Amino acid sequence: MDGLVLSLALIVASGAAPAASLKFHCDAAESANAVYHVACLAGHIPCTQDVFERFWHDTLQWTAADQRELDAWTRGVKKVENAAGPPRAAPYVGNYRSFFPELDARLRILHAALESRSASDFGRRTKQWLGAKEAARLHDTIEYFRRRLQPWWESTGHTIEKTRVRRVEKTLRSDKMVALARRVSAFVEADAPASDVHVHLIPSPEARFDVATGTFVVNHLFVEVTDAAAPDDLASVSLHELTHYLYETAPAAKRLDLMQPFVRAEVPHASAFYALLNEALATATQGLLVQRSRTSDLHQRARLCLSGIPRRTGEPLHSRRGRRRSDRRCRQSVRETQIGVVFGIAVGN
Ligand SMILES: [Zn+2]
Repeated sequence: MDGLVLSLALIVASGAAPAASLKFHCDAAESANAVYHVACLAGHIPCTQDVFERFWHDTLQWTAADQRELDAWTRGVKKVENAAGPPRAAPYVGNYRSFFPELDARLRILHAALESRSASDFGRRTKQWLGAKEAARLHDTIEYFRRRLQPWWESTGHTIEKTRVRRVEKTLRSDKMVALARRVSAFVEADAPASDVHVHLIPSPEARFDVATGTFVVNHLFVEVTDAAAPDDLASVSLHELTHYLYETAPAAKRLDLMQPFVRAEVPHASAFYALLNEALATATQGLLVQRSRTSDLHQRARLCLSGIPRRTGEPLHSRRGRRRSDRRCRQSVRETQIGVVFGIAVGN
């Protein structure tokens, strides 16, 4: 029900604010994967850290040089974090990343690494936080890990993604997805988000297990990929992370204003409800996508039933057993479709 309430709010709000125009790009690039591995090993982003640590220690045989490079990365980023100021005063701890200046500074370094095309480009993008030598050292570290990862990447990593990259990008660029992203953008009052959103697929080093996660660094969304992950699932996780990103871009004053109804509510645990809001919104958006896909499938099935077309190949149309089963399935499809239509009206389908 909460999802429906949020969905309704999404529609009400979507008419009021201008929506960003977003273009999705999907890849499984070696360079983005190298940045992800370094950030994950350093504990700088949410990831399945156990999986990546096991992979580096057991499969790639972690060396003293690996540790030296990781330490250099951690030291360099720590210096940037330490230079960031304290969080601004607020009634609650913010439920967005930029509330924490240290974390925000760290993510800006990662973002520069993802956007840079060369060491000098990285130096230019990070010069407000890092001296030229410090920037070069961090860039060297990423290059070191990229080269170290390369044999595994060429033999295993990149091979699982080619088809899925194309299918995920196609789904993300569909009218349905673009429209939903625009509504989310309007609802959270996103402030000038990047028009290009990059989704990086990260092959899990333990792809046979269904343990994976997603995260985002500004307009770069990361989705760990296991063997079991279907393109629609990956697109759905991307939409979840996109919602977090858009929420993050809302003007600081609006994010602070959003705390006020919770402060005034005078109910127990109001701060906890506020803390959950960002995550609840991302999850509701993802749920809305799933619900819309399901509603359209059901509608198609019910339409076939009502037009008298048999649903199941090989099922005798006039056999008593077949007809009974078909009738039951039809009634169920029509009933579910009616519910779906009501839901669709509610969310503005
Ligand atoms: Zn989330």
